[in-house]
Amino acid sequence: MTNINEYLGGRIFNITELDTMVLNELQNCGSKIFEATFKKNDKLFCRRCLMELPKLPIKLQYCRQCINLGKIQSTDKLLISSTNVKYPIQNNYLYWNGQLTSNQKRGVRELIKAFENKQDHLIWAVTGAGKTEMIFPLIEQVLQKGRRIAICSPRVDVCIELFPRIQKVFPNTTLGLFHGKSDEKYHLTQIMLSTVHQLVRFEDAFDVLVIDEVDSYPLAGNRMLHKAIKKAKKKSGMIVYLSATPPKELLMRVNKGQISITRLYQRFHGHPLPEPYCHLLFRKIELWGINPILKIHLDKLIKNNQRFMLFFPQIPMMKSFAKKLKKVYPSLTFVDVSSKDELRLEKVQQFREKNVQAILTTTILERGVTFKKITVIVLEAQAKEFSKTALIQIAGRAGRGKDSFDDEVHFYYRYYNQQIRKACWEINYLNRQAKR
Ligand SMILES: [Zn+2]
Repeated sequence: MTNINEYLGGRIFNITELDTMVLNELQNCGSKIFEATFKKNDKLFCRRCLMELPKLPIKLQYCRQCINLGKIQSTDKLLISSTNVKYPIQNNYLYWNGQLTSNQKRGVRELIKAFENKQDHLIWAVTGAGKTEMIFPLIEQVLQKGRRIAICSPRVDVCIELFPRIQKVFPNTTLGLFHGKSDEKYHLTQIMLSTVHQLVRFEDAFDVLVIDEVDSYPLAGNRMLHKAIKKAKKKSGMIVYLSATPPKELLMRVNKGQISITRLYQRFHGHPLPEPYCHLLFRKIELWGINPILKIHLDKLIKNNQRFMLFFPQIPMMKSFAKKLKKVYPSLTFVDVSSKDELRLEKVQQFREKNVQAILTTTILERGVTFKKITVIVLEAQAKEFSKTALIQIAGRAGRGKDSFDDEVHFYYRYYNQQIRKACWEINYLNRQAKR
């Protein structure tokens, strides 16, 4: 027996993938069939990813942009499944007894107003402002109106972190977590959590789309993903962008009045963002084992049992430093993680549970993770991998807890550059705005 829920909800299928029974059933409940490609200005475009089909010297043209989701040929037909679904009515959707700060409450009011006006909205909130809690009331409104919402991030880790938090406060609502690495098969849910990549598979599907960490890789500058976001939203729907470091293009659209905005300069606990201490190292970090200036600092942290994060620009540098660390401090417990690490989530959990004193990482942990009572150290802060945005996000890992709001952040660099200067300036600027 087929489970029709594995197909419904504005999802795009190549009809060659569907067997006749499913196809008939889907059409009976309002799903529509379209040509897989369309012509515009004499160019051929793919209906699924909206990108142009480059002309290949073969008979049957196909889309190479979204081929990892299955091949689409120019003569294929696509089925877009129905979104005409009634969700069960509940007396109460949101089970949360936390308190919002007055700033967060203002943000919520502005967000709900944007939802009512079907107006795209940007929440520019400093790291640790409590963005996630602010979207709870929005989700509740959407559910009460019998609508459907997707919360998406370019980063898998962010989705995985978010899932239990949403599940906990909306325990009776259907919720799915879908991304390239998950084993969970797609099925229709009223709340969907997914990577932005998954949106390529949808058209006209969601009443509200929340895009978390909108400035982060791989969404930044990726045209296909930006098109996918707009396509996945229903025509009558709205998009909410969340960011601590919003991209210029989005702020320009705010200036043009195309998007409304909420600015949150204050962290949820009311304390300012930790401002980085800057240290000029002159020489490389591995000078005589560990650079003596840095070593004095590490000695102190280790002696005081202070937990710390070390950020590196590249994996080989991190691996090499890990060896030095092991040699100089044989009793220090630590883990190292990177984008290439299959045990990343487990290792992060080890650090969170205080099983190890330190974590060595690349920019992979620059955002979306929260630890308490930690010192944050960036090494080789002048490296090109540490953009202004990355440095602000990394600094934002510190001071997250109410009882550890004054965690320290340190930038170690061989020479001072624009990125470091701009990051420090912006953190200071945000703190000044918060005081006003
Ligand atoms: Zn395509």
